[in-house]
Amino acid sequence: MSERIFNFSAGPAVLPEPVLDRARDEMLSFGESGMSIMEMSHRSKRFAEVLDRAESGLRSLLTIPNNYKILFLQGGATLQFSMVPMNLLAEDEKAEYVVTGAWGVKAFSEAKRYGLAKTIFSSEDGGFRTIPGRGELRFDPSASYVHYTSNETIDGVEFDYDLDGGGVPVVCDASSNILSKPIDVEKYALIYAGAQKNIGPSGVTVVIIRKDLLERCRRDLPKLLTYRAIAENDSLLNTPNTWGIYLVSLVCKWLEGEGGVAAMEKRNLEKAAVLYKAIDSSDGFYRGHAERAARSRMNVTFHLPTPELDKKFCSEAESLGMNGLRGHRTVGGIRASIYNAFPKEGVERLVEFMKDFAMRN
Ligand code: PMP
Repeated sequence: MSERIFNFSAGPAVLPEPVLDRARDEMLSFGESGMSIMEMSHRSKRFAEVLDRAESGLRSLLTIPNNYKILFLQGGATLQFSMVPMNLLAEDEKAEYVVTGAWGVKAFSEAKRYGLAKTIFSSEDGGFRTIPGRGELRFDPSASYVHYTSNETIDGVEFDYDLDGGGVPVVCDASSNILSKPIDVEKYALIYAGAQKNIGPSGVTVVIIRKDLLERCRRDLPKLLTYRAIAENDSLLNTPNTWGIYLVSLVCKWLEGEGGVAAMEKRNLEKAAVLYKAIDSSDGFYRGHAERAARSRMNVTFHLPTPELDKKFCSEAESLGMNGLRGHRTVGGIRASIYNAFPKEGVERLVEFMKDFAMRN
């Protein structure tokens, strides 16, 4: 088997090796079943236990109180751009959007199709390098919800605090930083995240929704797009992504063994600090994209002096076993995604290469 490389991909992203090992070991026969988890009924007792482990794993890791329901959906975080307003925003109601990057733009443009969505903060003019300061935003108390993206995967900017809606329900796209640090779930009405960065494989979306919101969901939507209907059926309204949910359960178990999200935060801070230090001490050869206070611990974005050098950097890094460093096609440059499962040695290897590359170029 060829060696595993350092995978800096933004998502689908690196998974913890022990999780992959376990999945391989259980591939042909899950437990004593004589079949893989993928071949098993989603209504079976064994799968019910897996679903329960995935749910209770997330609940315990993020300290999710009992008045929140955890749902496992499909359609990616992108479907949540629509499901949130479809369920929670009537035509004559207002929702406020805080836009700090490319994903926030997409969420906002979907919401406009369903009700009176309004941007109350946008850092687009400055090229998405900033985050509003704590307490800086004012919300309309009549708004149905305020939406924000806690980490903008493409631009590499991250909130370092839980947004306080001051009474307005807060909806958060936490796709690219969920489980990377402790959060105060009670500050949120709804949190959603595509699994393929920090939770598991693509094809599963986790939604954490406060139960009182389930009652507010519109009643004229297709059942499969209605949070309440999915919640009433414990995510088994139809066949869920059983394989994906199984991997989520394994990732949760791995995280627990590693010390949970507090330990992850410490590790992630260390990894990001090493990388940002390399950028800051390069005499301007590497230019970080985000302003310091807004720097993401998950997606470190920077530019070299020219797009040609960006390209050369990526291809040389790849030949040294460091993959997935090319910045998103819309912004160019370099993006090193260093999620929970990404090892510190990979960051150190990259920093070594960065120093060498800067010297040679
Ligand atoms: N929001 C954020 C913050 C993301 O990073 C992504 C995907 N990279 C999405 C939404 C869209 O997710 P999906 O591809 O699962 O629909």
